[in-house]
Amino acid sequence: MESLRIVLDASEIPTHWYNVVADMPNAPLPPLGPDGQPVAVEQMAAIFPMNILEQEMSAERWIPIPQEVREIYRLWRPSPLCRARRLEEALGTPARIYYKNEGVSPAGSHKPNSAVPQAFYNRQAGVRRLTTETGAGQWGSSIAFAGQMFGIDVRVYMVKVSYDQKPFRRSMMQTWGAEVLASPSAITQTGRDALARDPHSNGSLGLAISEAVEEAAGRADTNYALGSVLNHVLLHQTIIGLEAKKQFEKAGDWPDMIFGPCGGGSSFGGIAFPFLADKAAGNSPNLRLVAVEPTSCPSLTKGAYAYDFGDSSGFTPLMKMYTLGHDFMPPGIHAGGLRYHGASQLVSQLYHEGLIEALAVPQLGTFEAGVMFARAEGIIPAPESNHAIRATIDEALRCKESGEAKTLFFNLTGHGHFDMASYDRYLAGQLENYEYPAEAIAASLAHLPQVG
Ligand SMILES: *Cc1c(COP(=O)(O)O)cnc(C)c1O
Repeated sequence: MESLRIVLDASEIPTHWYNVVADMPNAPLPPLGPDGQPVAVEQMAAIFPMNILEQEMSAERWIPIPQEVREIYRLWRPSPLCRARRLEEALGTPARIYYKNEGVSPAGSHKPNSAVPQAFYNRQAGVRRLTTETGAGQWGSSIAFAGQMFGIDVRVYMVKVSYDQKPFRRSMMQTWGAEVLASPSAITQTGRDALARDPHSNGSLGLAISEAVEEAAGRADTNYALGSVLNHVLLHQTIIGLEAKKQFEKAGDWPDMIFGPCGGGSSFGGIAFPFLADKAAGNSPNLRLVAVEPTSCPSLTKGAYAYDFGDSSGFTPLMKMYTLGHDFMPPGIHAGGLRYHGASQLVSQLYHEGLIEALAVPQLGTFEAGVMFARAEGIIPAPESNHAIRATIDEALRCKESGEAKTLFFNLTGHGHFDMASYDRYLAGQLENYEYPAEAIAASLAHLPQVG
């Protein structure tokens, strides 16, 4: 009987991450400060350790994974590559569908792939405290877990509305020993200002980032950790694609198309870049890499390619990326991890240069796809992952029409066990599709910072 799970041995966990910068046709543009000049490393060193900043700016193709990090990865990695045979049958498609299950990590998503090395490098640099922000709680719980592995104290600023509505992600972080504060809090200037403006503020991710960065910048013993967007985060996530390549070799198959959900772009870069390396080397010329985003927050498909802030308060350096404008407030879709106004500069540039593709899908279709997947394969996916599943199913149905037996591969970035309230609403017929927010995007793009 053919195997549905292609597994690797712990000894086959990759020894190096892959840095796509080495193979990009053009070097990435540097982040800029408020004066329009490239940001000096020393400015970033207030909140990030040098070993991470070196990775952020590196153009080396292969970066060694420290043994201590591989030891922690071993708790759940290598993650399985699975063949979705029952989904193929349910769809009646000649396509072969595979997925990489990143939901098997302790926190339930791909995010610990970067949280663990970030905690390790900070500890190595002598840092004993980290601050971060979290929206729905996926990143906060990953860094709480990783901090615990390396003896680092973690303080998480959690967007107030999620703090109240997602108590179990909060208790998960507390179980791993992290301190969780509702943002806006009264302990930072940013938080106090926000509370003075509106004592009942629900908070926002941009505000929580500003609070976490303010604290880290103001304390010598404390650094800051970010869960997506930055080059070093995408680098760490390439463990996903590197393992998958070994697994496809074992399976004697190879993807024609790869789909991943795309918020900040870390898991998409993680699954796609190692395969992009083959394209860069002249192999797999027909391989297609597709980033899938929500129609309500379509940064790649409807955004501008411009320098913009990474956060909504304008605290961070300017990065050249596809953006909807830093003050764009996405509608309250249930895929919290995809509600980001921009996208990683590496993903943005490769999209701009035509090396990867992007498409946007509406909310209802994503839940329909997630439920179909759960009923066929058993696993209940995170709402973010459902975006990739929707796009994969649509392609599989096109294959059914054309009779093509393509190999389709998607990133199951997480399980949905903490998102059952969202499934509840879908099953009760209470979920809606949001219109493409054209006017709000145009208004926000009008406020893009002027550079050069
Ligand atoms: C955070 C998250 C995402 C989106 O973040 P990226 O940086 O774009 O990968 C996707 N899926 C899950 C399960 C997440 O938690």
